[in-house]
Amino acid sequence: MIKVALCIATEHDPWLVALAVAICCAGAFAIVQMCERSSHAPGLQRLGWAFLTAIAAGATIWCTHFVAMLAFEAGAPVTLDPVLTISSLVVAVAGSFAAIYLATRERTALQGALGGAGFGGAISAMHYTGMAAYRVDGLVTWDLTYVAVSIVCASAFSAAAMAVLGSDRIGRHRLAIATALIVVAIATLHFVAMTAMSVTPLVLSDTPLDAREVRALAWATAMVGMMVISASVFAWLIDRQTRSDAMRKLTHMALNDALTGLPNRVAFQAEIQREVEIARATGGRLGVLAIDLDRFKEINDVHGHKAGDEVLIRLAARLREALGPGDMVARLGGDEFVALTRFADRAQLTALADRLDATLKTPLTVGHFEARLGASIGIAIYPHDGDDAEMLANNADLAMYRAKSEGAPAPCYYDSELDDVIRDRREIANDLRRAIDRNELEVHYQVQASVASGEVTGYEALLRWTHPTRGSIPPSTFIPIAEENGFILALGEWVLRRACMDATAWDHRSKVAVNVSPLQLAHANLPRLFHQVLLETGLPPRRLEIELTETAIVADRARALHVLRQIKALGVGVALDDFGTGYSSLETLRAFPFDKIKLDRFFAAELAGSPQSTAILRAVLALGKSLSIPVLAEGIETQEQFEVLAHEGCDEVQGFLLGHPGVMTGENPSPLADALESIPPAQAPQSTAA
Ligand code: C2E
Ligand code: CA
Ligand code: CA
Repeated sequence: MIKVALCIATEHDPWLVALAVAICCAGAFAIVQMCERSSHAPGLQRLGWAFLTAIAAGATIWCTHFVAMLAFEAGAPVTLDPVLTISSLVVAVAGSFAAIYLATRERTALQGALGGAGFGGAISAMHYTGMAAYRVDGLVTWDLTYVAVSIVCASAFSAAAMAVLGSDRIGRHRLAIATALIVVAIATLHFVAMTAMSVTPLVLSDTPLDAREVRALAWATAMVGMMVISASVFAWLIDRQTRSDAMRKLTHMALNDALTGLPNRVAFQAEIQREVEIARATGGRLGVLAIDLDRFKEINDVHGHKAGDEVLIRLAARLREALGPGDMVARLGGDEFVALTRFADRAQLTALADRLDATLKTPLTVGHFEARLGASIGIAIYPHDGDDAEMLANNADLAMYRAKSEGAPAPCYYDSELDDVIRDRREIANDLRRAIDRNELEVHYQVQASVASGEVTGYEALLRWTHPTRGSIPPSTFIPIAEENGFILALGEWVLRRACMDATAWDHRSKVAVNVSPLQLAHANLPRLFHQVLLETGLPPRRLEIELTETAIVADRARALHVLRQIKALGVGVALDDFGTGYSSLETLRAFPFDKIKLDRFFAAELAGSPQSTAILRAVLALGKSLSIPVLAEGIETQEQFEVLAHEGCDEVQGFLLGHPGVMTGENPSPLADALESIPPAQAPQSTAA
């Protein structure tokens, strides 16, 4: 150590040593940055980066060595072998290339250490090749211990440098530490190696070059070296800039809506989270405004999607203009937007909501038509309406939903009482989606019987849902919800499959009637589904009947009748449900050969005291007779009701009098045995039922 220091102090020109160290530092910086870059590059790119790095590394090692060597005062005439001098540069570049390519193959400390040791070897090989070119007029002796130490040090330090570079455990200063280690590796090699060499001059004369020439040569070398290093650094900088531009663009794309340029849902979620935290910390207030355009679908449908896009772009720009400083508006998708604002008093918030409302209501000229939209706006306030981002956004949404369904002329503030109804429906809708998988659904069966013979004619399948916390929820609540969000298709399919499966297991070969929602008729490929389920379960088609209300038919009469014909062609029966309440159009009855008319239970309830109901009952029964369609009366609860129906010649009955809907047992007693006994035989009607 002392000997090395002595060698540097007494046998070297201090200015040129300083110059060599400067090149070494600059070069080490370039090497480390570019190694880092190359370790992140894939495939062929890594080869390119390793090569560029090797050029910078070769220039660094070689120039440092050459300048430091010129700084060495041998005390005897010196000449340089040109071939070996150039070879030493080639050795430096080639060795560095192999070592760096190896070091950056994987980003691990071990891989780095391996490549780094190779880099130390390259520095050493370069140095000793360079020294072989160094011809001094005197006796040169080498201390092999120092030679060995120099090589070990160089390899150890550069191995450490690259290991640090490849390790993820070292924090922020990773690159600085690696740079310092590279400098130490190059410097120790050089100076320990120079200590290993001692020159005994034979002729006591000066070097053939005088001090000025040596300096000029050193500076020239240093400048060329610096140029090469700078060129590499610039290549790295340009690449970095391009990549960060690309990154910025990508980030922009990820956080902004491509059509309107407004922040998107992801950006909004991050922002509301941040704003809630700020409001919580500062005790501030935050308004969340859920905005949904009205009549936007019409624009899309009538004028096309291009016009729709144009409208969205223009409205987004208007929304942005209406904001106050610090507010944000984002597009969540489709025609849904959301705004976020900090406010001190409610008037400020209302003012913003009114501005947004007004700007969206202002007519808009697109191409040659004038679009008159408008929006439903719901507002939720932190901390009053919610303690976290999700709750606030949800509540703003609920208020918006209410504004929309009520056609409110002004923005609606969240109101827990009013909006809980909607929340409830949403929760039910969510839970319903999971009800099938969680085994919460069941099908109950209610008996239908022939009035004349008292025999069972079939069973109606009625869906039952036992919610884990709410308990039993009636179908009148959840069926409309399922219809609202389209889940009825899955639900209907499940009921159909279950009912058919159950029916195949019954000892008695009764029919099973399944309710079909209008939505199923409109959207599902029902004939195919029925065909498939019948095949799957092996239920004979004549044992299956569907119950359908007129609503299902009126929406698209032609299509509905076409589908019904296909179903009937399978051999499945079709009953018209809830007759007498809705349209009750004779046209429907004429256009399609129903297998049964189900008279709504409203009439049964009215029978006892209302002559009008009896008149309608008679009319429907007469109609059924003339069209040869049997009529079933629903909701028969009392003996009197039954007697009136029997007297009027009704074909079939269903109701609590015969049995409540329930799980199906194997046996099949005649539910009407008692009721029939009480009717005098003379009055027993002739049945037209099959
Ligand atoms: P619906 O098709 O008219 O079914 C008959 C309803 O009347 C059933 O109510 C049944 O329990 C009830 N009921 C039967 N006898 C009597 C009686 O004597 N008195 C009274 N007051 N009511 C009686 P539920 O099961 O609550 O079903 C209500 C409605 O829900 C059904 O009316 C039907 O429209 C719908 N629904 C039930 N299950 C399904 C299904 O699987 N799919 C579809 N799409 N709708 C279903
Ligand atoms: Ca029904
Ligand atoms: Ca009914």
